[in-house]
Amino acid sequence: MKLWLTRPLPETVEARARAGFDVEIRSSNAPLSGDEMRHALRSYDIVMPTLGDRFQADVFADVPEPRCKLLANFGVGYNHIDVAAAQAAGVAVTNTPGAVTDATADIAMTLLLMTARRAGEGERMVRAGAWAGWHPTQMLGLHVTGRTLGIVGMGRIGQAIAHRCHFGFGMDVRYVSRSEKELPFAATRDASLAEMAGRCDVIVVAVPGGAETHHLLDAAFFAAMQPHAIFVNIARGDVVDESALIAALKAGHLSAAGLDVYEYEPAIPPALLEMENVTLLPHLGTAALNVRTDMGMMVLDNVQAFVEGRALPNRV
Ligand code: NAP
Repeated sequence: MKLWLTRPLPETVEARARAGFDVEIRSSNAPLSGDEMRHALRSYDIVMPTLGDRFQADVFADVPEPRCKLLANFGVGYNHIDVAAAQAAGVAVTNTPGAVTDATADIAMTLLLMTARRAGEGERMVRAGAWAGWHPTQMLGLHVTGRTLGIVGMGRIGQAIAHRCHFGFGMDVRYVSRSEKELPFAATRDASLAEMAGRCDVIVVAVPGGAETHHLLDAAFFAAMQPHAIFVNIARGDVVDESALIAALKAGHLSAAGLDVYEYEPAIPPALLEMENVTLLPHLGTAALNVRTDMGMMVLDNVQAFVEGRALPNRV
């Protein structure tokens, strides 16, 4: 069986792929073009897509009898793949849950603290040579210890963030999720996003992307936030109506935001780039060598199971 890894991966992952499979490794880091996706479905038995590779219904429609039978996605988020269209075309989809949880929760904490304590703004001031020295009312931020955290999407990553905030920072935890959760710490489930928005000092989004969550965080949500509160998104860019977020920041409906993902990434609206009260990271959630290695190994575990005719460990 022919395997196509559509991006260069950590050395040990590539070595395992070369040792175990008939593999081709694409040298580019750019998302696949439409032609490349169609070529992938026609020419390989197994393909590893990742973020940005939009395997949508039109791509499957153009390749009625694909040679490819497995899209082994690199990443837990698979909203770039139309899973129903893949299934209808006889293509299974797997992902990499769990491998990314702690690293992504850590990036949420990085954004939470940087944004609350104005770290980006402070660093820019120091580097610009504009720091005149310490004084009692300089750059006062939000002290998060003992405050109230709201999690939108209390899944693996949401729980890992809440765990850190509860045990590390003594924060009260509230959440909105599709189902009630049994958690190893006290947490209150709110009936609606608007209810939660009005009660929290810090809100972190950790829902999957896709049609169901598109613009879940909209103008009404931001209008319901407290003016001193901060908003963090480590999920997917389009779960947030980015224009509504910008308008709400300008109107003072919330005080600041920390973002790892963007609606049209890698494009970032100039309005966000100009705001001192916004922390902007380049989708760093899982960016650590051992995490990316674990993700790659999980992809290959699914590939291996497929080649051996076993049940896929991480079928979505
Ligand atoms: P997960 O375990 O599936 O958790 C997702 C949670 O969202 C679940 O608790 C689910 O509720 C909830 N949810 C789904 N739709 C909802 C809705 N419409 N309203 C409210 N809650 C909803 O997934 P995960 O492993 O934590 O990952 C979450 C997402 O993070 C991924 O899908 C990915 O897009 C993103 N991510 C980003 C990065 C990054 O680099 N920034 C890295 C990794 C992952 P139920 O449990 O009730 O179903």
